[in-house]
Amino acid sequence: MEAIATEALPADLKPFVCSSCGDWNAARAPFRLFGDSHYVGPEGLSVVAIDTGAGVILIDGALPQSVPGILAGLKSIGRDVRDVKYIAVSHPHFDHAGGVAALARMSGATVLSTDAGADALKRGDVPKEDPQAGYGDFMKFPPVANVRALADGASVTLGDISLTLHATPGHTPGGASWSWQDCEGGRCIDLVFADSLNPVSHDDYHFGDGELTAAFRRSIAKVRVLSCDLVVSAHPSQSQLFERAARDALLDVEGCRAYADEAAKRLDARLASERGE
Ligand SMILES: [Zn+2]
Repeated sequence: MEAIATEALPADLKPFVCSSCGDWNAARAPFRLFGDSHYVGPEGLSVVAIDTGAGVILIDGALPQSVPGILAGLKSIGRDVRDVKYIAVSHPHFDHAGGVAALARMSGATVLSTDAGADALKRGDVPKEDPQAGYGDFMKFPPVANVRALADGASVTLGDISLTLHATPGHTPGGASWSWQDCEGGRCIDLVFADSLNPVSHDDYHFGDGELTAAFRRSIAKVRVLSCDLVVSAHPSQSQLFERAARDALLDVEGCRAYADEAAKRLDARLASERGE
């Protein structure tokens, strides 16, 4: 058999190459989170599909090479990519937004982000203020055409679902967490797709100097107090999503608080190490 002819793929589906990409993109069977909300992402990068009754809202698009798996996940819930009306983005890095351009092209969906996130998505690159901007061209991803910026606290409604943006800058300037309510068997709960809150950077960046760090603290505090019965973190392992699913314990009212407390610890440790402690 010939090697996969990636040259024949549209540019927005060309596999991204990174040291973690293979592990992140390992297949994971789709499963129901609650009500009409489903996990349809691969092993290491969360993607949620909410079947609203008037079309699908996707949250995140993982890597370009994750798109076939996301399409299969949509099929598993009886939906097609053309049913996707909105794609909400956690943050504009290649591992969460890399597949968004292709998914938006195939669906015609409107892509939702913060102001800073929308700017980065349209350019397919991170702003110079991004802690990982020092990696240069490595941070580029397929640019997204149809992007709408939402203000902090603004919502979109589709069918039965209202999805609210919570600006959570820090890991990136344009980061967002998302919340919505979903119901099952007469019970309604609050779900949160929590953005990455880890202080990862290029070697040349110091969180201790950054204006972004005060915003980072506020973002962590914001996620900590969200009304949150079920948290899905942008990387599922950071909220033990699959372990919780295996224990039939996806609902956890302490989930957002625990995720935020862990993030605060990591930021403190990072600042201490920058000070040479
Ligand atoms: Zn990131």
